[in-house]
Amino acid sequence: MEIEGYIPDKSFVLQNVDEEEKKQILYEHSEKLAIAFGHANIPPSMPIRVIKNLRVCGDCHNWTKFFSKMTRREVIVRDGRRFHHFIDGYCSCKDYCKNSHTLHTDEEEAHICDKTKGGPKKTNAN
Ligand SMILES: [Zn+2]
Ligand SMILES: [Zn+2]
Repeated sequence: MEIEGYIPDKSFVLQNVDEEEKKQILYEHSEKLAIAFGHANIPPSMPIRVIKNLRVCGDCHNWTKFFSKMTRREVIVRDGRRFHHFIDGYCSCKDYCKNSHTLHTDEEEAHICDKTKGGPKKTNAN
């Protein structure tokens, strides 16, 4: 599946890997296949739900954000650590505030990240 604006993470490109490793990589990125399958088979009014034992990698996470934006579908991925609720290009996990290749520059996200950093608080000097 090609999604406009999606830039694959170079570190996940298959290069000089043997067949066994390829199988392993495809297995690990099965959420992309599952989401594409869900898109074709689940009514648009329903969210696409995917359960994954391993942690979702950065590439799949980015891909799913674009998917939710381009298709305007809700995608819920439960990985080994947490829920990811994708709506309109955003994920409920806020990318842990450290996604180095975030492709959108919305200020909203920056605000959310600032809050979690626990920035300077206004204190009452009594
Ligand atoms: Zn992946
Ligand atoms: Zn997420």
